[in-house]
Order: sequence, then structure tokens, then C-alpha cells
Amino acid sequence: MPELPDLEVFAENLTKYTAGKKIKKVEVFKDKPIMPLKRLEFIAFAERKIIKSVKRFGKQLLFTFDDGKTLLLHLMLHGELYYINEGEKIPEYAVAAFHFFDKKILVFKDHTQWLKLRLHTEGEHAVDPISKAFTSGFFKALLSEKAKTTLKEILVDQEKVTGIGSSYADEICFNAKIRPQRLAGELDDKEQKVLYNAVITTLKDAVKKIKKGMNGNITGEYTVHFAVHGKKKGFCPLGHKLATLKIGGRGSEYCPKCQK
Ligand SMILES: [Zn+2]
Repeated sequence: MPELPDLEVFAENLTKYTAGKKIKKVEVFKDKPIMPLKRLEFIAFAERKIIKSVKRFGKQLLFTFDDGKTLLLHLMLHGELYYINEGEKIPEYAVAAFHFFDKKILVFKDHTQWLKLRLHTEGEHAVDPISKAFTSGFFKALLSEKAKTTLKEILVDQEKVTGIGSSYADEICFNAKIRPQRLAGELDDKEQKVLYNAVITTLKDAVKKIKKGMNGNITGEYTVHFAVHGKKKGFCPLGHKLATLKIGGRGSEYCPKCQK
């Protein structure tokens, strides 16, 4: 599943590929991903419109058109994007496709059909962790509101801060040198600041690395740079044995030596 930093890079690459381009034809192959819209409504919404920009919000990609309307894409667990040339075979399990006037095609694919393509409506209250709205004051207030909740659960809770998955939550805690199972209310002022900074730097560093690692990609997931997450019974970058535990039902890794 692509994570926030992957999607940040996809949004940038999709903007390079599609911004300013007019959609000549929209094809819908599966109904579930575009629900509650019907095929004709979806086609009428996007066809003959120009894509102005593609931006990421949380784990969603927002395609804004020249009429000011926005299409929201959530790839969910298995969704993939392909940017192909006219004449090339549309990938199997494609759910929809945008054909552009320059003979390029953007294909939305998902064998599970969980991928979501929706009209974007206002009323999104969560904060994206690498946006200006994610301030230290906001984070401090969040920690005090959730004083009896573990840090891991707060970081992955999409309701307040949107876009951090289990893997990056573990990485953030490792970089902050704080254990993910600690309760928010236990953190002193200094630890709160360190954790706040770790959220931003961990995600931004990942974006930089992914940009180098997946040049021009708009699909897949780039994970090889993780320091602790997914390394069951492995070692932290300093060579200490990692501990594994479940927090709020999610597998978590941390270093008992590096993290307090
Ligand atoms: Zn360590």
C-alpha cells in the first residue's frame, strides 16, 4: 500500500504528466470504484475537462479540473496508476481510464475494486502532517486531548491527522527516540517537541529519498529505507535487537535501547 511519502511523489509526477491536459475520453470499466456516481455521471464530470493540478491530502490524491471541481482518488490497499500510450494494452483489472488529446492514457487499476474515485466535497477536518495546518500548537493540543492513548494509536488515527500509516508511525517514534506504546499524557514538553519535529522530518526525508528511488513513478511503494518497521526480530541501525508488540491491533517495532 503506498504511504503518504509515496503519494506525495506520485502527486508531483502526475502533475508533471497531466497538468494542463484536456481529457478527450473517459472510460469506466467497473461501477464500484465510482459509486455513488453512475457511469454516465462520472463521464460527464471529467470528460473534456482540463486537469489543473494533482495534489496529495493525507493518503488521497486530488485532481482539480478547470471548472474548479475536484476528483478524489484513494488507492486503498491495491490500487495502481498507469500512464501509457494510446495503442498500448489497457492493463487487466483496470477500473477506469482518462484518454488525453496527446494520445496518453491514465489508467486506474485495482483487482479488488476497493480503489475509490469520488467527487471531492468540503468538510474535511483532519490535518495533513506535512501541511502548514500541522502546527506545534495543534499537535500539543492533540496530545493533551488524547492523554490516555498510545502514541502509535494517535499517529495512525486518521480522524485528526490524516495520512500516517503503521510503518511511518514506527519510524517517527524511532526518530524521536520515544517508544510507540507510551501514552501521550506521559510526554514532557521537550518530548512533545521532539515527536512533533520527528513527524515532519521523517515524512519529508522519506519524500526526498523516494524521489531519488522511484524516478517518475506513479505506482508502487518504496520501503527499503525503514529503520525499524517491518524488521521483525531484526536490528535497529545501531545494531540493537528490536522488540515487536501489538498496539491497538497493529504490529509495531521499536528499539528498547534507542527509544525511551
Ligand atoms: Zn537501537
